[in-house]
Amino acid sequence: MVSGTSDIPGASLGVFDGVGFAFVQESNGLTWWESAKALWKWGLAPIRCTALRKTTVDRFDKMYDEPQFPFASLTQVVTDVDLLDATSATGEQYISENGLTGSFGHDVIQASTRVNYAQNANAQLRHINGLLAMVCMSTDGAKAVENGNWQIFDEMIAKANATTRLSTEVSSVTQGKDGTYLLRHGPSTDLSDLADHEASAFDVVVLAAPHQFANITLDHHIAHIPEKISYVQLHVTLLTSPYLLSPAFFNMPPGKPAPKTILTTLPPDEEPQKGAAGVGKPGFFSVSLLRPVTNPKTGGQEYLYKIFSPVPPTSTFLTHLLGLKQPHHHMETGISEEDISWIYRKVWDSYPYEVPRVTFEEIQLDENLYYTSAMDGFISTMETNALMGMNVARLIADRWQAKMARGAARGGREAPMLLPSEGVM
Ligand SMILES: Cc1cc2nc3c(=O)[nH]c(=O)nc-3n(C[C@H](O)[C@H](O)[C@H](O)COP(=O)(O)OP(=O)(O)OC[C@H]3O[C@@H](n4cnc5c(N)ncnc54)[C@H](O)[C@@H]3O)c2cc1C
Repeated sequence: MVSGTSDIPGASLGVFDGVGFAFVQESNGLTWWESAKALWKWGLAPIRCTALRKTTVDRFDKMYDEPQFPFASLTQVVTDVDLLDATSATGEQYISENGLTGSFGHDVIQASTRVNYAQNANAQLRHINGLLAMVCMSTDGAKAVENGNWQIFDEMIAKANATTRLSTEVSSVTQGKDGTYLLRHGPSTDLSDLADHEASAFDVVVLAAPHQFANITLDHHIAHIPEKISYVQLHVTLLTSPYLLSPAFFNMPPGKPAPKTILTTLPPDEEPQKGAAGVGKPGFFSVSLLRPVTNPKTGGQEYLYKIFSPVPPTSTFLTHLLGLKQPHHHMETGISEEDISWIYRKVWDSYPYEVPRVTFEEIQLDENLYYTSAMDGFISTMETNALMGMNVARLIADRWQAKMARGAARGGREAPMLLPSEGVM
């Protein structure tokens, strides 16, 4: 059973700027930045932010329905639903143009853009745009399927009776003379040995992974090759320890417990830097105490933590964060197993730097070749990529239907383009 964190001492959330806390929320409940305490601190800014978020999200929601849906061009639909003012401005410009001034942007919106996208909101190159700043303010109430969201898609594949080839890596897509696409593919472990790769022909292909990381060679005849964009490299560290976060690390008085979720912003006098250096004085984007856990070896209660940072957390950082005594030698952490019983590190090319922009990647790379990860440079979330999946499926179905209708009008029976051989990578 998963236990909550309400019995663990400490406020539920704090925004740390590397020196002290810009804000502390004592208990769970209301969206933290809309609580009575927040209104007292930032006046009308939280209410204005809620209104701006609603206007922005309402525009985005139009993308789910006719006449916008399905959309063949991301640039066109973003223009049509009036989101260009949000995507073309930096987060800071967008909120101030909409009457949101004062420290709310720095203390709250920037803390949210840093935990969600590892990017600052300020008006400089490579900093997040206005639309994404609002996306970051819309994450409360997000839901997940128990035991993993993957079950949704697993069930969809089962219901569709589709053939699935897991652990099969596609290495190239070439255009055949008959208008089909030839996919070279093989077990993901032996990409170096191309001889072992099979090739299969498909009528329609959907590339559903960022092209720049997918290791797939696209035929040079293909009309549009996706542009390479700059992705955030995020270090995610999960660890267990019997210790709570150290109040001293956050310059709190001894004896007062530290908050259980720490978001970060920059100290007021720090100029935001580009890329990984944007993390600034705090040195990390967020630290969350996820839940209490039982150490299977000792039977003792410990805490499971998640850290987001631009570089791997060092043993010195972890020692200070958890208020440990001097590090002993442990292969993985430089810290004894009594202090950190388990650690798992993973580096992700997690999402693009969502910079201000007015044009977006192509959805259709060529006739019958689609690209769902075009969405990443617009909004990178599970929901938006799922919307793009639905959009591409509908574009394909509409083409089949039109083709069948043309066939029927000519009095013949034109088959839809070979249903069993559409391919999704
Ligand atoms: C640390 C982290 C935290 C995140 N937090 C959130 C969050 O809280 N909320 C949220 O909405 N989003 C979050 N995201 C973003 C979210 O994970 C992505 O938007 C989402 O996974 C995109 O889904 P997708 O199916 O389009 O692509 P992906 O999930 O990237 O799937 C692409 C698939 O293609 C496969 N593939 C790649 N190359 C090949 C090849 N050559 N042959 C065959 N298969 C290939 C990959 O193995 C992978 O399975 C987070 C991302 C990261 C990294």
